[in-house]
Amino acid sequence: MLKIDNLHASVGGKEILKGLSLELQPGRVHAIMGPNGAGKSTLGNIIAGREGYEVTEGSITFQGQDLLGLEPEERAAAGVFLAFQYPVEIPGVNNTYFLRTALNAQRRARGEQELDSMQFLKLVREKLAVLHLRDELLHRAVNEGFSGGEKKRNEIFQLALLEPKLAILDETDSGLDIDALKAVAEGVNALRSPERAFLVITHYQRLLDYITPDEVHVLADGRIVETGGPELARELEQHGYEWIKDRVSPEA
Ligand code: ADP
Ligand code: MG
Ligand code: MG
Repeated sequence: MLKIDNLHASVGGKEILKGLSLELQPGRVHAIMGPNGAGKSTLGNIIAGREGYEVTEGSITFQGQDLLGLEPEERAAAGVFLAFQYPVEIPGVNNTYFLRTALNAQRRARGEQELDSMQFLKLVREKLAVLHLRDELLHRAVNEGFSGGEKKRNEIFQLALLEPKLAILDETDSGLDIDALKAVAEGVNALRSPERAFLVITHYQRLLDYITPDEVHVLADGRIVETGGPELARELEQHGYEWIKDRVSPEA
Protein backbone atom coordinates (compact mmCIF):
# COMPACT_ATOMS: atom_id res chain seq x y z
CA MET A 1 0.00 0.00 0.00
CA LEU A 2 2.72 2.46 1.02
CA LYS A 3 6.31 2.02 -0.05
CA ILE A 4 9.01 4.34 1.23
CA ASP A 5 12.36 3.94 -0.43
CA ASN A 6 15.62 5.52 0.73
CA LEU A 7 13.93 8.63 2.10
CA HIS A 8 16.19 11.50 3.08
CA ALA A 9 14.60 14.59 4.57
CA SER A 10 15.71 17.71 6.39
CA VAL A 11 14.19 20.30 8.65
CA GLY A 12 15.78 23.74 8.66
CA GLY A 13 18.82 22.41 6.80
CA LYS A 14 19.38 19.58 9.30
CA GLU A 15 19.07 16.06 7.93
CA ILE A 16 16.61 14.06 10.05
CA LEU A 17 15.70 11.08 7.88
CA LYS A 18 18.77 9.40 6.41
CA GLY A 19 17.77 6.72 3.99
CA LEU A 20 14.57 5.40 5.54
CA SER A 21 12.85 2.49 3.82
CA LEU A 22 9.54 0.99 4.94
CA GLU A 23 6.60 -0.88 3.44
CA LEU A 24 3.11 -0.84 4.87
CA GLN A 25 0.56 -3.51 4.00
CA PRO A 26 -3.23 -3.21 3.98
CA GLY A 27 -4.95 -4.96 6.85
CA ARG A 28 -1.96 -4.55 9.12
CA VAL A 29 -1.12 -2.41 12.10
CA HIS A 30 2.45 -1.17 11.92
CA ALA A 31 3.96 0.39 15.02
CA ILE A 32 6.88 2.79 14.78
CA MET A 33 8.92 3.07 17.93
CA GLY A 34 12.12 4.91 18.59
CA PRO A 35 13.97 7.25 20.88
CA ASN A 36 12.90 10.84 21.31
CA GLY A 37 14.10 13.00 18.43
CA ALA A 38 14.63 10.02 16.11
CA GLY A 39 12.36 11.49 13.45
CA LYS A 40 9.09 9.61 14.08
CA SER A 41 6.87 12.68 13.86
CA THR A 42 8.89 13.92 10.91
CA LEU A 43 8.06 10.70 9.08
CA GLY A 44 4.32 10.98 9.79
CA ASN A 45 4.26 14.63 8.79
CA ILE A 46 6.08 13.99 5.53
CA ILE A 47 3.66 11.21 4.56
CA ALA A 48 0.73 13.53 5.23
CA GLY A 49 2.40 16.41 3.40
CA ARG A 50 2.76 18.89 6.26
CA GLU A 51 4.87 21.97 5.56
CA GLY A 52 8.39 22.60 6.79
CA TYR A 53 10.14 19.46 5.56
CA GLU A 54 12.47 19.11 2.62
CA VAL A 55 12.74 15.73 0.95
CA THR A 56 16.18 15.58 -0.62
CA GLU A 57 16.26 11.99 -1.85
CA GLY A 58 14.12 8.88 -2.12
CA SER A 59 10.48 8.18 -2.91
CA ILE A 60 7.11 7.42 -1.36
CA THR A 61 4.50 5.60 -3.40
CA PHE A 62 0.96 5.11 -2.16
CA GLN A 63 -1.10 2.54 -4.04
CA GLY A 64 1.29 2.91 -6.95
CA GLN A 65 1.00 6.71 -7.02
CA ASP A 66 3.88 9.14 -6.34
CA LEU A 67 2.73 10.54 -3.00
CA LEU A 68 5.34 13.28 -2.79
CA GLY A 69 3.90 14.86 -5.94
CA LEU A 70 0.49 15.35 -4.30
CA GLU A 71 -0.78 18.30 -2.24
CA PRO A 72 -1.83 17.52 1.34
CA GLU A 73 -5.54 17.75 0.40
CA GLU A 74 -4.97 15.37 -2.51
CA ARG A 75 -3.27 12.92 -0.16
CA ALA A 76 -6.23 13.13 2.19
CA ALA A 77 -8.60 12.55 -0.71
CA ALA A 78 -6.50 9.55 -1.75
CA GLY A 79 -7.07 8.13 1.73
CA VAL A 80 -4.19 9.27 3.94
CA PHE A 81 -5.19 10.41 7.43
CA LEU A 82 -2.89 11.93 10.04
CA ALA A 83 -4.30 12.65 13.44
CA PHE A 84 -3.06 15.77 15.13
CA GLN A 85 -0.58 15.18 17.89
CA TYR A 86 -1.97 18.22 19.70
CA PRO A 87 -5.60 18.61 18.64
CA VAL A 88 -6.67 22.21 18.21
CA GLU A 89 -9.58 23.70 20.09
CA ILE A 90 -12.01 25.67 17.97
CA PRO A 91 -14.24 27.54 20.39
CA GLY A 92 -17.68 28.37 19.08
CA VAL A 93 -17.53 25.85 16.24
CA ASN A 94 -19.89 22.98 16.77
CA ASN A 95 -18.12 19.63 16.47
CA THR A 96 -20.83 18.04 14.28
CA TYR A 97 -20.59 20.95 11.85
CA PHE A 98 -16.80 20.67 11.83
CA LEU A 99 -16.82 16.94 11.11
CA ARG A 100 -19.40 17.25 8.35
CA THR A 101 -17.38 20.03 6.73
CA ALA A 102 -14.24 17.88 6.84
CA LEU A 103 -16.05 14.87 5.39
CA ASN A 104 -17.71 16.86 2.61
CA ALA A 105 -14.42 18.53 1.67
CA GLN A 106 -12.96 15.06 1.21
CA ARG A 107 -15.97 13.90 -0.79
CA ARG A 108 -15.79 16.97 -3.08
CA ALA A 109 -12.08 16.30 -3.69
CA ARG A 110 -13.00 12.75 -4.73
CA GLY A 111 -15.78 13.95 -6.99
CA GLU A 112 -18.41 12.36 -4.74
CA GLN A 113 -21.77 13.81 -3.71
CA GLU A 114 -21.72 15.78 -0.48
CA LEU A 115 -23.85 14.44 2.33
CA ASP A 116 -26.83 16.47 3.49
CA SER A 117 -27.52 16.71 7.20
CA MET A 118 -29.87 13.71 7.27
CA GLN A 119 -27.39 11.46 5.48
CA PHE A 120 -24.59 12.72 7.68
CA LEU A 121 -26.56 12.00 10.87
CA LYS A 122 -27.26 8.48 9.69
CA LEU A 123 -23.55 7.93 9.10
CA VAL A 124 -22.73 9.45 12.48
CA ARG A 125 -25.08 7.02 14.21
CA GLU A 126 -23.49 4.07 12.43
CA LYS A 127 -19.99 5.13 13.41
CA LEU A 128 -20.94 5.88 17.00
CA ALA A 129 -22.28 2.35 17.24
CA VAL A 130 -19.12 0.80 15.79
CA LEU A 131 -17.00 2.65 18.31
CA HIS A 132 -19.44 2.23 21.23
CA LEU A 133 -19.47 5.99 21.72
CA ARG A 134 -22.26 8.26 22.84
CA ASP A 135 -23.06 11.45 20.97
CA GLU A 136 -22.23 13.91 23.74
CA LEU A 137 -18.95 15.07 22.18
CA LEU A 138 -20.74 16.03 18.98
CA HIS A 139 -22.80 18.78 20.56
CA ARG A 140 -19.85 20.62 22.02
CA ALA A 141 -17.37 22.99 20.39
CA VAL A 142 -14.40 21.29 18.71
CA ASN A 143 -12.11 19.95 21.42
CA GLU A 144 -13.05 22.79 23.77
CA GLY A 145 -12.62 21.68 27.35
CA PHE A 146 -12.19 18.07 26.20
CA SER A 147 -10.14 15.81 28.46
CA GLY A 148 -7.20 13.93 26.95
CA GLY A 149 -9.39 10.87 26.53
CA GLU A 150 -12.21 12.87 24.94
CA LYS A 151 -9.83 14.47 22.43
CA LYS A 152 -8.60 11.04 21.47
CA ARG A 153 -12.15 9.70 21.12
CA ASN A 154 -12.97 12.64 18.90
CA GLU A 155 -9.91 12.02 16.78
CA ILE A 156 -10.80 8.36 16.40
CA PHE A 157 -14.36 9.34 15.54
CA GLN A 158 -13.00 11.62 12.81
CA LEU A 159 -10.98 8.68 11.53
CA ALA A 160 -14.08 6.47 11.49
CA LEU A 161 -16.02 9.05 9.47
CA LEU A 162 -13.27 9.73 6.94
CA GLU A 163 -12.56 6.01 6.42
CA PRO A 164 -8.92 6.42 5.35
CA LYS A 165 -6.91 3.68 3.67
CA LEU A 166 -3.86 4.66 5.69
CA ALA A 167 -4.36 6.01 9.20
CA ILE A 168 -1.34 7.55 10.90
CA LEU A 169 -1.61 8.11 14.64
CA ASP A 170 1.25 10.03 16.17
CA GLU A 171 1.10 9.66 19.91
CA THR A 172 2.77 12.18 22.17
CA ASP A 173 5.86 10.97 23.96
CA SER A 174 4.39 12.01 27.26
CA GLY A 175 1.17 12.83 28.95
CA LEU A 176 -1.27 10.41 27.39
CA ASP A 177 -3.28 9.25 30.36
CA ILE A 178 -4.61 5.73 30.55
CA ASP A 179 -8.07 6.85 29.46
CA ALA A 180 -6.61 8.41 26.30
CA LEU A 181 -4.45 5.38 25.59
CA LYS A 182 -7.45 3.10 25.85
CA ALA A 183 -9.50 5.38 23.61
CA VAL A 184 -6.84 5.16 20.92
CA ALA A 185 -6.44 1.43 21.29
CA GLU A 186 -10.17 0.65 21.25
CA GLY A 187 -10.58 2.86 18.19
CA VAL A 188 -7.76 1.21 16.30
CA ASN A 189 -9.01 -2.23 17.20
CA ALA A 190 -12.58 -1.43 16.13
CA LEU A 191 -11.45 0.14 12.85
CA ARG A 192 -8.99 -2.53 11.75
CA SER A 193 -10.03 -3.76 8.34
CA PRO A 194 -8.49 -5.77 5.51
CA GLU A 195 -8.35 -2.64 3.31
CA ARG A 196 -6.81 -0.35 5.90
CA ALA A 197 -3.27 0.06 7.17
CA PHE A 198 -2.41 1.75 10.45
CA LEU A 199 0.84 3.45 11.26
CA VAL A 200 0.92 3.92 15.00
CA ILE A 201 3.81 6.07 16.16
CA THR A 202 4.72 5.75 19.79
CA HIS A 203 7.67 6.23 22.08
CA TYR A 204 6.53 3.86 24.79
CA GLN A 205 5.53 0.25 24.65
CA ARG A 206 2.54 1.01 26.92
CA LEU A 207 0.15 1.74 24.06
CA LEU A 208 1.03 -1.60 22.51
CA ASP A 209 -0.26 -3.37 25.62
CA TYR A 210 -3.70 -2.49 24.23
CA ILE A 211 -3.08 -2.68 20.49
CA THR A 212 -1.29 -5.77 19.27
CA PRO A 213 0.63 -4.57 16.23
CA ASP A 214 1.31 -6.90 13.34
CA GLU A 215 4.72 -5.35 12.83
CA VAL A 216 7.00 -3.23 14.96
CA HIS A 217 9.61 -1.04 13.30
CA VAL A 218 12.34 0.76 15.18
CA LEU A 219 13.34 4.17 13.91
CA ALA A 220 16.75 5.29 15.11
CA ASP A 221 19.21 7.72 13.61
CA GLY A 222 16.90 8.51 10.70
CA ARG A 223 16.43 4.93 9.50
CA ILE A 224 14.39 1.83 10.21
CA VAL A 225 17.00 -0.23 11.99
CA GLU A 226 14.91 -3.21 13.06
CA THR A 227 11.58 -4.82 12.18
CA GLY A 228 9.86 -7.56 14.12
CA GLY A 229 6.63 -8.70 15.70
CA PRO A 230 4.99 -7.55 18.95
CA GLU A 231 7.79 -9.19 20.94
CA LEU A 232 10.19 -6.55 19.64
CA ALA A 233 8.24 -3.86 21.51
CA ARG A 234 8.52 -5.85 24.73
CA GLU A 235 12.24 -6.35 24.26
CA LEU A 236 12.66 -2.61 23.76
CA GLU A 237 10.69 -1.94 26.91
CA GLN A 238 13.00 -4.25 28.83
CA HIS A 239 16.33 -3.31 27.33
CA GLY A 240 15.79 0.27 26.10
CA TYR A 241 16.94 1.83 22.88
CA GLU A 242 20.63 1.57 23.69
CA TRP A 243 20.25 -2.16 23.21
CA ILE A 244 19.10 -1.72 19.63
CA LYS A 245 21.88 0.77 18.87
CA ASP A 246 24.41 -1.78 20.09
CA ARG A 247 22.89 -4.40 17.84
CA VAL A 248 22.84 -2.08 14.83
CA SER A 249 26.44 -0.90 15.16
CA PRO A 250 28.26 -3.37 17.41
CA GLU A 251 31.58 -1.64 16.81
CA ALA A 252 30.31 1.61 18.41
P1 ADP B 1 10.40 12.20 17.31
O1 ADP B 1 8.98 12.37 16.90
O2 ADP B 1 10.99 10.88 16.97
O3 ADP B 1 10.61 12.53 18.76
P2 ADP B 1 10.83 14.46 15.56
O4 ADP B 1 10.50 13.98 14.20
O5 ADP B 1 9.82 15.30 16.24
O6 ADP B 1 11.28 13.25 16.47
O7 ADP B 1 12.18 15.31 15.48
C1 ADP B 1 13.36 14.81 14.89
C2 ADP B 1 14.43 15.86 14.95
O8 ADP B 1 14.07 16.96 14.16
C3 ADP B 1 14.70 16.39 16.35
O9 ADP B 1 16.09 16.57 16.50
C4 ADP B 1 13.98 17.71 16.35
O10 ADP B 1 14.60 18.60 17.22
C5 ADP B 1 14.11 18.15 14.91
N1 ADP B 1 12.98 18.96 14.47
C6 ADP B 1 11.71 18.55 14.33
N2 ADP B 1 10.92 19.54 13.89
C7 ADP B 1 11.74 20.62 13.75
C8 ADP B 1 11.53 21.97 13.31
N3 ADP B 1 10.33 22.41 12.94
N4 ADP B 1 12.62 22.78 13.29
C9 ADP B 1 13.84 22.34 13.66
N5 ADP B 1 14.09 21.09 14.08
C10 ADP B 1 13.06 20.24 14.12
MG1 MG C 1 9.47 13.78 20.16
MG1 MG D 1 7.23 12.85 17.88
